[in-house]
Amino acid sequence: MEYPGNLFVIAAPSGAGKSTLVKALLELDAHLMVSVSHTTRAPRGQELNGREYHFIGEPAFRAKIAAGDFFEWAEVHGNLYGTSRAAIEDRIAGGQDVVLEIDWQGALQIKRLFPQAVLIFILPPSWDELAQRLNRRGEDEPAVIAQRLANARIEVSKARHFDYVIINALFETALFDLKTVVHSQRLKYVSQQRNRSAVFAALDLIPSD
Ligand code: 5GP
Repeated sequence: MEYPGNLFVIAAPSGAGKSTLVKALLELDAHLMVSVSHTTRAPRGQELNGREYHFIGEPAFRAKIAAGDFFEWAEVHGNLYGTSRAAIEDRIAGGQDVVLEIDWQGALQIKRLFPQAVLIFILPPSWDELAQRLNRRGEDEPAVIAQRLANARIEVSKARHFDYVIINALFETALFDLKTVVHSQRLKYVSQQRNRSAVFAALDLIPSD
């Protein structure tokens, strides 16, 4: 089905800078909104229920799977994560552009269900740089970092299934690239026809169907 809103799905290995890029993108673009996922992982630091995630227990999460409430869900680093179907479908049906910040498994599920989704993968510039960023964050134990790096090898190998790849070597450049992908999507003929209907009508461009 053709929805008036765009769905941007952004994945990356941990440490590639995905969350910072998405946060900056959302601050710059009032027409974008991020979908808040459900997860069984415990809140970290300053995280608030309903803001970073909807934090729920595993039985409640499994009940939601059974009820078909998730557009996609996946197990990531031992916890369950899912995107609520209602939250996305209502928004893109209403013409809103939505960003999902999810893992590659969820991204590929979405592409199968909704081929118009725009999949964006964020890569670090090198393995050394990724390791340095994970160490610099100081959030995790060495064993956890080693595990994240091992997972990152698998995650990065999935980038070839995505529509766009952004290399986050320099933050400003990566942010510009991300904005460019979002903007180019909005310049597609069908989007322009929908959003600039007065111009199209004045130019006698009749919708084809
Ligand atoms: P974290 O626990 O560090 O916030 O997230 C761990 C991973 O789970 C990240 O790659 C994050 O993008 C991913 N993730 C967050 N929400 C979802 C979701 O709803 N679905 C899927 N498939 N992955 C998610």
